[in-house]
Amino acid sequence: MGEIRAILVDKDAAGGYRAAVTRLDEADLMEGDVTVRITHSTVNYKDGLAITGRAPVVRRFPMIPGVDFAGIVERSEHPALKPGDAVLLNGWGCGETHYGAYADKARVKGDWLIPLPAGLSAAEVMAVGTAGFTAMLCLMALEKHGATPADGPAIVTGAAGGVGSTAISFLARAGWHVIASTGRPEEADYLKGLGASEIIERAELSGPVKPLAKERWAAGIDSVGSTTLANVLSMTRYGGAIAACGLAGGMDLPTTVAPFILRGVALLGVDCVLASRERRIAVWDRIARDLDKAKLATMTETIGFDDLMRVAPEILAGKVRGRLVVEMG
Ligand code: NDP
Repeated sequence: MGEIRAILVDKDAAGGYRAAVTRLDEADLMEGDVTVRITHSTVNYKDGLAITGRAPVVRRFPMIPGVDFAGIVERSEHPALKPGDAVLLNGWGCGETHYGAYADKARVKGDWLIPLPAGLSAAEVMAVGTAGFTAMLCLMALEKHGATPADGPAIVTGAAGGVGSTAISFLARAGWHVIASTGRPEEADYLKGLGASEIIERAELSGPVKPLAKERWAAGIDSVGSTTLANVLSMTRYGGAIAACGLAGGMDLPTTVAPFILRGVALLGVDCVLASRERRIAVWDRIARDLDKAKLATMTETIGFDDLMRVAPEILAGKVRGRLVVEMG
């Protein structure tokens, strides 16, 4: 075993947080029955938080951040995996409690790995990544609730971000009339290209929250939380449902019970980290079936390992459009 390149985050005794590119002995990777050579990764909002330390997503120090990777199995003691297999991993605490993706290699539990879905390359699954996986979980949660495009439009908040961009394309593909809410109105053409039919300004959902406001949509996917989600709920039609997965605008939720008890609105919580293996395979199968690769290409920028430290604060500042793929090189 030799040396590998990695980003390592650590805290010093005084609580100071630092992240740096370093070299580690491969033998120092954490416990696991499979070693993967990472070929591609991505950058999600959570990865930005982990590198900068702006919120406590890392729960063990030192840590290699990065919640998603795709790569090739190098060594395996897992019965279902052998060297040369192409695999992907998203979630399971990688980059939070277990050494994650921003390294040349990862050693993980084989049960966390799933085969690359048919027809998708390592770069494409990372372009989808946790953000797109979560957007699909949200769409499937709405469908499980019984929501259909015939009910009315669907709102997507944080539209130009990773979850937002993928949510627009998946909802449009499933036949929904999509209303995209963004703080970047200059991205209107981009959002329409992904399948949005209408664009509204983020500010429309940032004002004071009324218990109930004019009904505007039947469903939604929210990655912003806070006042935005509270306004989305108060504007949801009778019997509608909103899938909530994010906190890009804040962790609070200044709502009232009015949308729930007077309009029967449902708030569906979505978590991707601990979704079961069976569920992950089902979600990735659906992504592989429904993904519009041309749209995916328009929302994706490719960067290198050396760009990671630079883009971490940028994604938190809402400056990254769509998705980033990291070619490990
Ligand atoms: P991105 O940074 O790519 O997208 C977030 C978007 O939210 C931005 O692009 C921006 O969209 C909007 N936004 C940012 N700041 C604010 C603000 N202060 N007020 C209102 N809108 C804002 O992040 P991701 O798409 O990777 O993640 C989005 C959220 O979803 C994060 O909170 C992340 O932690 C969460 N998440 C949760 C998961 C789960 O399992 N529950 C899994 C994946 C993500 P625009 O410029 O269009 O307004």
